[in-house]
Amino acid sequence: MAENTVPEIPLNNGVRIPQLGFGVYQIPPAETKAAVLTALEAGYRHIDTAQMYGNEREVGEAVRESGLDRGEVFVTSKLNNDAHDPQVAREATARSIDALGIGPMDLYLVHWPMPAVGDYTETWRAMERLYEDGHARAIGVSNFHIPHLQRLFAETEVVPAVNQIEVHPYLTQEPLRAFNAEHGIATEAWAPIAQGQVLDDPVLVALAAEVGRSVAQVVLRWHIQRDNIVFPKSATASRVAENRDIFDFALSDEQLARIDALNADRRRGPNPDEFNLIPG
Ligand code: NAD
Repeated sequence: MAENTVPEIPLNNGVRIPQLGFGVYQIPPAETKAAVLTALEAGYRHIDTAQMYGNEREVGEAVRESGLDRGEVFVTSKLNNDAHDPQVAREATARSIDALGIGPMDLYLVHWPMPAVGDYTETWRAMERLYEDGHARAIGVSNFHIPHLQRLFAETEVVPAVNQIEVHPYLTQEPLRAFNAEHGIATEAWAPIAQGQVLDDPVLVALAAEVGRSVAQVVLRWHIQRDNIVFPKSATASRVAENRDIFDFALSDEQLARIDALNADRRRGPNPDEFNLIPG
């Protein structure tokens, strides 16, 4: 494999998404423009932000100042947890689009189902209208479990294009990933390296030595070969480049299985079934 290009995955409406992107969660707004420009210079063409991250404006500035055509960069944002109401959702979306300043979003997600805040099927119907009105080229969900998705299938029209969920070697999410795939929903893996927690795992350290790559690269490569879409976050230019450099080697089935076996159903973030309340 001499090529080191990022593959694109077709979503269920035909829109294509680069399988590797750059996540900007916890990058302070003042540092976001420079971080995104670094990622774009390193060859990333997919940025994952959210209204909750407070840095949509700076993401948009970087895309506009990069010199790239708008169509060359895939930008995702997410509807905030306090916007589970059709009118509030519409207003929140207008704020995101204004902050980004790059026209319609490529992908727009419901960030968390939040059943105690509002009816996420009503929210999803609002997302369907926003999609129809051209505010996003594709719509999807995040942190949805199988029963959440089943309710959407029963009560709404559009099948989400993606489900963005926590996935890494300690939380492989096989049943949910299989359910997504069965319904034509692409799986996006957040915290793909478990926010750094997997980096000193002895099995992964040994595997990395075996293939002559870093642990982060091996774990990201495992995601790619398991068909997950990933967007690792780093504000360090050398790591941004390292995380991009994963398309010129492959893990064997046996090596992939060794990583699968690390699953411990251990989360970094909250369980979507329990994460229901707005603090306060
Ligand atoms: P991550 O798994 O990408 O880990 C990020 C951490 O790993 C950072 O501390 C970074 O410094 C470190 N790191 C990155 N590359 C490294 C390397 N090569 N070597 C050593 N350390 C390295 O975790 P994340 O940022 O939480 O997740 C990625 C993205 O997923 C976020 O930026 C965000 O876009 C998205 N996300 C979504 C949700 C959601 O609810 N939908 C939740 C969390 C994150």
